Amino acid sequence: MSVAQKPRVLVIEDEAALLALLRYNLEKEGYTVDEATDGEQALLKVAEHLPDLILLDWMLPRISGLEVCRQLRRDSDARNVPIIMLTARGEEADRVRGLDAGADDYIAKPFSPSELLARIRAVLRRIRPALAEEVLTYGGLVMDIATHKVTRNGREVHLGPTEFRLLRHFLEHPGRVLSRDQLLDAVWGRDIYVEQRTVDVHIRRLRKALNGDNEADIIRTVRSAGYALELGQQMAYGAA
Ligand code: CA
Repeated sequence: MSVAQKPRVLVIEDEAALLALLRYNLEKEGYTVDEATDGEQALLKVAEHLPDLILLDWMLPRISGLEVCRQLRRDSDARNVPIIMLTARGEEADRVRGLDAGADDYIAKPFSPSELLARIRAVLRRIRPALAEEVLTYGGLVMDIATHKVTRNGREVHLGPTEFRLLRHFLEHPGRVLSRDQLLDAVWGRDIYVEQRTVDVHIRRLRKALNGDNEADIIRTVRSAGYALELGQQMAYGAA
């Protein structure tokens, strides 16, 4: 099983206590952490090892965070790296200036570690989906989001793009009964009209691909309600 690498976060913050706290919380979540205490050092760090995400303090000595942000956005390598600005200034006008300078999100101090981690996940999910959710698993199923590889009990499963999205949605809500409407919204989107029967067609294809010989059906049909990814009692046979 391949596990995607955890993202590298560069923290640019001159306050030693906050820097240590951020490092502690990020490393606890499995992120690789690099740090810089001013803008110049930050630019050197970026050149040395391109991060997957940057946490950038607004109030930095010499070059302001805002200016660092502008410089990073002009850098051919760093221009696409997501930046979350940290600041004590919570005003709307500052927020707009930060976003104008090229920041992807903005978080006002004081913030809780869990709030910050949620924002980081949200930004990564939006900009680098492959980094945000590495591997989804349930029962004997393993889905590697980055490589689009799916296996069941070690056997590789080949899925079309729609079946892949369906299974991903199931894996994000294991055991939950999802209605055809919910599946349509999640997999096909709200803006497009698709008949409910279409869901059944793709569920059938997904089942066919997932359920090998002697393997229990991992998708449960719930009459007049929808479908659930669920391992029934028969799994003992399936796993054998
Ligand atoms: Ca500061």
